[in-house]
Amino acid sequence: MLDDMFDYVAGIRDRPVWQPMSQPTRERFRSRLPHAPTDLAEVYRDFSELVVPHATGNVHPGFMGWVHGGGTVVGMLAEMLAAGLNANLGGRDHAPIEIERQVVDWTRQLFGFPRGASGIFVTGTSMANLMAVLVARRTALGASVRTAGLGETGRRLRAYTSKAAHGCIAKAMDICGFGSDALLGIAVDAAHRIDVAALRAAIAADRAAGLKPFLVVASAGTVDIGAIDDLTEVAELCRSEGLWFHVDGAFGALAMLSPELASMLAGIERADSIALDFHKWGQVPYDAGFLLVRDGAKHRDAFAAPAAYLRRETRGLAAGAQWPCDLGPDLSRGFRALKTWFTLRTFGTDALGAVIARSCALARHLEARVRAEPELELLAPVNLNIVCFRYRCEDADALNREIVADIHESGLAAPSTTVLDGRLAIRAAIVNHRTDVCDIEQLITAVLTFGRQRAAGLTPLIEIEAPPLAL
Ligand SMILES: *Cc1c(COP(=O)(O)O)cnc(C)c1O
Repeated sequence: MLDDMFDYVAGIRDRPVWQPMSQPTRERFRSRLPHAPTDLAEVYRDFSELVVPHATGNVHPGFMGWVHGGGTVVGMLAEMLAAGLNANLGGRDHAPIEIERQVVDWTRQLFGFPRGASGIFVTGTSMANLMAVLVARRTALGASVRTAGLGETGRRLRAYTSKAAHGCIAKAMDICGFGSDALLGIAVDAAHRIDVAALRAAIAADRAAGLKPFLVVASAGTVDIGAIDDLTEVAELCRSEGLWFHVDGAFGALAMLSPELASMLAGIERADSIALDFHKWGQVPYDAGFLLVRDGAKHRDAFAAPAAYLRRETRGLAAGAQWPCDLGPDLSRGFRALKTWFTLRTFGTDALGAVIARSCALARHLEARVRAEPELELLAPVNLNIVCFRYRCEDADALNREIVADIHESGLAAPSTTVLDGRLAIRAAIVNHRTDVCDIEQLITAVLTFGRQRAAGLTPLIEIEAPPLAL
């Protein structure tokens, strides 16, 4: 299995990025509960033949959809070791917890947070943002919110983010009991950064109406085009207004690892909390989301709950005062920290930062290629690693949607789409460390080929087949 997987990763460029699943293949995943044992070799053969050819494709250098990390074999091996130890990182006194504490401290250093900061691995930034809202909520309303609920004051709390922010912020407000209407979407400038003057005005208007502003969520790398809010200005405003300053840095925050990009994040060191994903630009295999909180006591106050069966002792396995279960909703937790610790140590953060800077350079190359092709149109400024463009044609929204599906089904590349100013864009986010100039060329060629065919009213003929893992 290991040999096959090494070969798979080493030869990934020769495979289609993605391949649609036939109905008969899908049916193979609809069997009855397996009461009797199956030979391991047969189970593995099904994995090799049915699962591998139909994986998401984000290991592939031609995958540029959404924001997906590429992972590494170092992370893969660490994941295997973690599964071997089968560690539960909810708490107790063992070395895996020290590994997580080590990565928390490295992350704290990276963002210039004080020693009292705390952090925790979670599934992803959606969860980290949700937990940040809960910490901000507990800070604004005091201990009673955890027993009595939001109450009269809680119902008047208001949060702010930009219209370009990720949808998980509104979902977090919903889950926290505020309702997503308690989150105001503030206008953005032409570069998709939050309009700080409009934010200030919205806060003042809400205060005048008797509401209670408590939280601003800034974006460090918006999902559409990678815009970074002016974090210093937002930090200033939050300080003068007494608001919790949270940064959604899902992928963008790790630009901190690159000396040439770090200055774009100036002000992030003043955040009260930061959400980020090691599984995106950090190249750690899924999942490895992370929440960092400046004031560890406030973090703990939002989640810690005493229970007799979780009593902390001064010695023995039940020792170790601060347990990760005090810092989030999970009790049982896997060893996500290990693959992150392996990745950061094995490659070193300078090399990871160089990969991040290189993906931005590749995005600038793609931008130049788009500008050079008269049939293509650039739809947004390129801030970091995301390029939004499209094929110029009649009925461009519908046709570009078809073009993207054609490209997916061809296995040549995997961009995604978004809508910018009401116009459908082909969106390429360069995240994978394996992506190179040839992959950018392949994407351009694919868009032009399918664009011409679609514009001429043709339906491209696409026939590909991905090989199984084990041959
Ligand atoms: C990816 C992303 C998220 C969500 O993170 P998950 O790890 O998918 O939960 C939130 N915000 C931004 C800006 C993102 O790019």
